[in-house]
Amino acid sequence: MMRLPRFAYHAPRSVQEAADLLAAAPGETMLVAGGTDLLPNMKRRQQVPATLVGLRQVSELQQIANGDGVTIGSGVTLARLVNHAGVRTAYTGLWQAAAQVATPHLRNMGTIGGNLCLDTRCNYYDQNYEWRKAIDFCLKKDGSTCWVATSSRKCLAVSSTDTAPALLALGAAITLVRADGAREIALADLYRNDGIQYLTRRPDEVLTTIRLPRLEGWRSTYWKLRRRGAFDFPVLSVAAAAKIARDGTVEDACIVLGAVASCPIDVTAAGDVLVGGPLTDGAIARAADAASKPARPMDNTDFSLVWRKRVTRDFVTYALRELRGDDVRDLRRRIARQELLGIVS
Ligand SMILES: Cc1cc2nc3c(=O)[nH]c(=O)nc-3n(C[C@H](O)[C@H](O)[C@H](O)COP(=O)(O)OP(=O)(O)OC[C@H]3O[C@@H](n4cnc5c(N)ncnc54)[C@H](O)[C@@H]3O)c2cc1C
Ligand code: SF4
Repeated sequence: MMRLPRFAYHAPRSVQEAADLLAAAPGETMLVAGGTDLLPNMKRRQQVPATLVGLRQVSELQQIANGDGVTIGSGVTLARLVNHAGVRTAYTGLWQAAAQVATPHLRNMGTIGGNLCLDTRCNYYDQNYEWRKAIDFCLKKDGSTCWVATSSRKCLAVSSTDTAPALLALGAAITLVRADGAREIALADLYRNDGIQYLTRRPDEVLTTIRLPRLEGWRSTYWKLRRRGAFDFPVLSVAAAAKIARDGTVEDACIVLGAVASCPIDVTAAGDVLVGGPLTDGAIARAADAASKPARPMDNTDFSLVWRKRVTRDFVTYALRELRGDDVRDLRRRIARQELLGIVS
């Protein structure tokens, strides 16, 4: 049985108190929300903070407020988000992404804030201490070599959060609070394409809220590739959103790829070919070609990297067809049952 290392624990009741606790020793202190990512990592000694600051009693992080859009507290559980009718209707892509994270039990504990700050993943890293020791560890923790690309000086671990690509496609902004101030940034600015320093969040900052704009006339969707339909991290995902006029003309579009790099990859430029016309098969094919080009999956997660690269185009196609209004329920069922190959030529 893997045991947690020893750590000090604080349970603040306000964001200010949590930020003050972080400020006292930012390098040695970590926040814990649902603990569904951090605690297994601590058991595997991938992360070994001396102090944990629990956020579950900070009620101000657990609000969902409707205004000109919606503001979601970082401590809102994924289960609550999935049960929120307003989110399901107005931000379908986010709802689909949250509903596909892990299992119902983990969604009852796991929060949206923890999901956005999820550690990057790699077959050589997500192993117990003894396994990692046997290969002399790796660059991300305790070692000096990247076993995925031995000449690489950069860690290539994979961004595996489901909700980040969906929120990025919907134009989310976040608030980060520290002991002596706060800043709001575009969610896109939270991420770096670096498997170790994958967040720009400072160690003394608490992610407090996620703000989504009101999106009149927008449709959104999220497609996830994973081995088991019941639960698994994404090894490829596509989030897409488009503003579509009553006559079917695309007025704006946004496409984001997940799990193909150390951060979500915004390929919105590929959606430009869609703007100004209807979502015809030809336009969708051109956008899917362009959107799949930047995907650079590495050989450090499930399925062959060549195949994952190839199906990126197919997944963008499925997402755009759904935005067009096609009935994709059977396609989704077949993907969940792993009847993947050959669905789209
Ligand atoms: C078996 C299994 C399957 C899983 N499958 C998936 C999956 O399919 N998709 C997926 O996306 N995830 C998956 N996860 C990971 C995890 O369950 C979710 O990502 C969950 O949303 C994490 O939220 P949490 O509140 O538990 O985070 P925690 O574990 O509490 O924290 C995760 C990280 O976020 C930081 N953090 C938490 N809250 C804040 C905050 N407010 N401000 C700043 N930093 C913060 C923590 O310090 C830590 O670094 C899986 C986990 C398991 C164990
Ligand atoms: S990509 Fe390389 S450095 Fe990063 S976790 Fe994997 S093996 Fe380690």
